[in-house]
Amino acid sequence: MLKQLFLLSFVILFCNSCAKNEPKLRNHKEDYALVIHGGAGTILKKDMTPEKEAAFTAALNEALDVGNNVLKNSGKSIDAVEKVIEYMENCPLFNAGKGAVFTNEGKNELDASIMTGEDQKAGAVGGVTTVKNPIKLARAVMEKSEHVMLAGKGAEQFAKENGLEIVDPSYFFTQNRWDGLQRIKKAELEKKTGFVDPMIVDKKFGTVGCVALDKLGNICAGTSTGGMTNKRWNRIGDAPIIGAGTYADNASCGVSATGHGEFFIRYTVARSISALVEYQKLSLQDAANEVVMKKLVEKGGDGGIIALDKNGNISMTFNSAGMYRGYLKSSGTRGVGIYKEDKID
Ligand code: ASP
Repeated sequence: MLKQLFLLSFVILFCNSCAKNEPKLRNHKEDYALVIHGGAGTILKKDMTPEKEAAFTAALNEALDVGNNVLKNSGKSIDAVEKVIEYMENCPLFNAGKGAVFTNEGKNELDASIMTGEDQKAGAVGGVTTVKNPIKLARAVMEKSEHVMLAGKGAEQFAKENGLEIVDPSYFFTQNRWDGLQRIKKAELEKKTGFVDPMIVDKKFGTVGCVALDKLGNICAGTSTGGMTNKRWNRIGDAPIIGAGTYADNASCGVSATGHGEFFIRYTVARSISALVEYQKLSLQDAANEVVMKKLVEKGGDGGIIALDKNGNISMTFNSAGMYRGYLKSSGTRGVGIYKEDKID
């Protein structure tokens, strides 16, 4: 009998310690939380050098630190999102700001958006070519204009009037992205049928995004991108489209997306996830799975999302081979990952 009791208490102790290794912060209210992405796509370990991997890991960690500094000091989620995305726009590794991909005409045309969850205010810009940090312009559109979205020359005029930093378009040049455009153009010439889907050659999206929950319980989401390599005719993707690439509502969640924008627009990815949480009472992860792993997969839309709800639950869900991503929570957990195999949350 004594032996059986001893065995029983051993089993209980063992199970308890196993449970501790579970992602125990799910459904636990966090003071604040932050989740970021730097793009999704066919990101495979075999195609990476250790140096490149280390550079991405360091940049993702740095971006998390930028956001953590704001949130831990009781800053607002919108400031955290703006600062994190500004950092990522200035980092040439990502397809946003400096490091943006090239259009078919060899230009960089940038899109960005931001949305606050407490009031559903939103600001967005499309196709800007001279604004150093499009996320700042998106915020200015939200706070200082009566509109949600400005594009092209008007957006640039508005940036100047509001004292945002303007740069020569050559600021956005990076050799790597230029070479990417040449690869696609070569493939088009070889194919002789005109358009080649950039996904077939490029295989990666590098948009950046951030969703934050602050100590007041306000959620903010933002996204910034150079779009897709070889895009044409002033093409604008999902990143600046509220409900497609970005959405935030304190009642449900905040979402930022990366992937083949046309699919994310058509299936209103960010808003669909929020609606499933709000109306169908799905958990954040179930909602993300429904849209990204079922609907988008069925329709052929590659990519992923990051999302966060009012309790600080996070989701980093993607149907591609990898997504540059990271998160942190006030209770101390934190992680960054690149490949599907990286189990970080
Ligand atoms: N979603 C972006 C677009 O279609 C691309 C990306 O995520 O990198 O413009």
